[in-house]
Amino acid sequence: MAKLYFRYGAMNSGKSTALLQAAYNYEERGQRVLLAKPAIDTKGASQIESRLGMTREVDFLIAAGESARDLFRAEREKARQDGSDIACLLVDEAQFLEPEQIDDLFRIAVEDEIPVLAYGIRNDFLTHAFPGSGRLLAIAHTLEELKTICRCGRKAVFNGRRVGDRFVFDGDQVAIDGEAVTYESLCGHCYLEESGGRLS
Ligand SMILES: [Zn+2]
Repeated sequence: MAKLYFRYGAMNSGKSTALLQAAYNYEERGQRVLLAKPAIDTKGASQIESRLGMTREVDFLIAAGESARDLFRAEREKARQDGSDIACLLVDEAQFLEPEQIDDLFRIAVEDEIPVLAYGIRNDFLTHAFPGSGRLLAIAHTLEELKTICRCGRKAVFNGRRVGDRFVFDGDQVAIDGEAVTYESLCGHCYLEESGGRLS
């Protein structure tokens, strides 16, 4: 039975690198994969960017309100017309998908029998689950944590948002990593220290 996997980690835990490696592993065996990501992530637009410098174009973007399953099926149909099939669907930045789109991924795994590897961040800068992550934590068959280390050496589980050198604890849930806003993965201890004890 094909499964829906959620491989989650804090910022900078190498999720995109792991995704590109997983795609490569399939392709090395002569299998075909599809790569997708939500259209909301403007960073890199339609590319998956690894911090190690590798980039790769996605096969399709999933916009708000769209059926991830319909998009997947259209791409799969193209592969079939070429006489091949899809061995796996890999989704980057899955935290930004809508809960219904996560349900689509579940159906792709269970009903279309294609494994789906979803990569993403578990919680936002205020420690709340993103909509897509909350749904993935609830229904994915397999949860796998990609670990990264806080500045103090403990395992990082939170994503502190910084504007300049200051950590901020107000603002929209989504503010893409860039010049104005950056993120630092923090352990619980350091998060509480920076937030003055505030957890949400
Ligand atoms: Zn720490």
